[in-house]
Amino acid sequence: MSKKIKAIVLKGNNVKEKDKNILLFSLEEGKVWATLKGVRGEKAKMKYAKEPFCFGDFVIEEGKGSLIVTSVDILESFHELSQDIDKYFEGNGLLEIVNALSFSGQNENYQIFVELIKALKILAFHKVSKYSVLLKFLIDIFTIYGMEVYSEKCSCCGNDFHDHVYINYNVGELVCANCQTFQSEELSKGEFAILKILTQNDYDKLETIKFSSEQGLKLLKTLVKNFYSRFDKSLKLIGILS
Ligand SMILES: [Zn+2]
Repeated sequence: MSKKIKAIVLKGNNVKEKDKNILLFSLEEGKVWATLKGVRGEKAKMKYAKEPFCFGDFVIEEGKGSLIVTSVDILESFHELSQDIDKYFEGNGLLEIVNALSFSGQNENYQIFVELIKALKILAFHKVSKYSVLLKFLIDIFTIYGMEVYSEKCSCCGNDFHDHVYINYNVGELVCANCQTFQSEELSKGEFAILKILTQNDYDKLETIKFSSEQGLKLLKTLVKNFYSRFDKSLKLIGILS
């Protein structure tokens, strides 16, 4: 019995002579591994479907011990990402993040799928500050899981921040100078400003939000550290942090 799923390729491994196992992130079933048969030849019909970022309608069916992709209708290949090394690494970072997450229900799965496609479209087809898509994605991931990072006031005592804002990695929230502990780290003014504006604006506003890549990278390192405490320590962000 075959079924159709809307999915994006997160990564793949070569198997046998010409096959490839791909990890699909789907709207309907979350993450599933499936095999593309004979797909590594130049003339293979589904050769574009084996590449990371390939987004489409995949028809899969039970094979011997694994799922087999029988056909693909590609909706978007995002091949533009492979023509700009910075965008490629940033896009790859989005896939790495999804790979590191697990979903406790259909709602998280759905929200993150929609978020990922939105993020990739902005990254591939618009002129945006370096790291802004990756930062926006991370910020929204915390929110989707009920762990919003940004707050207007100290998450602990409720007072204003008065010039000094800290992130408490133990709880993943912002605290004031009085409430900070040894598990907290101060955010620079630049980091705090970027965190605020990216929390309060959606992807379609990213083109209008400008910041330096140094400031962006600084906040990215902070959010990745927070990601390690909340989710998974295997996130590498290849080409950006490693
Ligand atoms: Zn406080």
